[in-house]
Amino acid sequence: MLNIVLFGPPGAGKGTQSAMLVEKYMLNHLSTGDLLRGEIAAGTALGLEAKKLMDQGVLVPDEIVIGMIRSKLDQNPDAKGFIFDGFPRTVAQAEALDNLLTEKSTGITCMLALEVNEAELVKRLLHRGKDSGRSDDQDESIIANRIREYNAKTAPLANYYAAQNKFKGINGIGEIDAIFNSLCEAIG
Ligand code: AMP
Repeated sequence: MLNIVLFGPPGAGKGTQSAMLVEKYMLNHLSTGDLLRGEIAAGTALGLEAKKLMDQGVLVPDEIVIGMIRSKLDQNPDAKGFIFDGFPRTVAQAEALDNLLTEKSTGITCMLALEVNEAELVKRLLHRGKDSGRSDDQDESIIANRIREYNAKTAPLANYYAAQNKFKGINGIGEIDAIFNSLCEAIG
């Protein structure tokens, strides 16, 4: 199986690049942000709980997102592989993911990290907010919280995967197709 963690701060281009990778490598796309927004749209209790946190730009509890990923892995036993987009975001989530994949006799192939500076991220998110209508993309103080959460809780995961020799940094600034080619080269 080809199991890729597509990593990077909010606005790095994970969603755009995931869509292209999914098509080329025929992978299942698992975005915890999309799954949570689906719960909110469906008006579930989980969605209501998550919305309060997402509206502030802070992470939802590990158990919630780990549970969602566990059920998606169980629902897709014949998948060729997965792209994890926006997950894991904490060391506890990364450890849980390793355990879930080990149970299925597989593991993470590599972590591809899209590297984009903070000024560019804020610019992209505010721009995206105009089209997507996502409230967490429209308010600079929520964006700042999301970047703070990323730096405090998520960025350390680079070391987690580097220690397993699975970390690959990719320049996330430039033409979408050029970034996609760099990702494909890194997958090899
Ligand atoms: P995203 O669409 O990936 O930018 O995620 C939007 C929001 O959903 C984040 O700001 C978090 O509040 C929440 N979220 C998404 N994925 C996770 C995760 N793996 N762990 C915790 N919170 C998450």
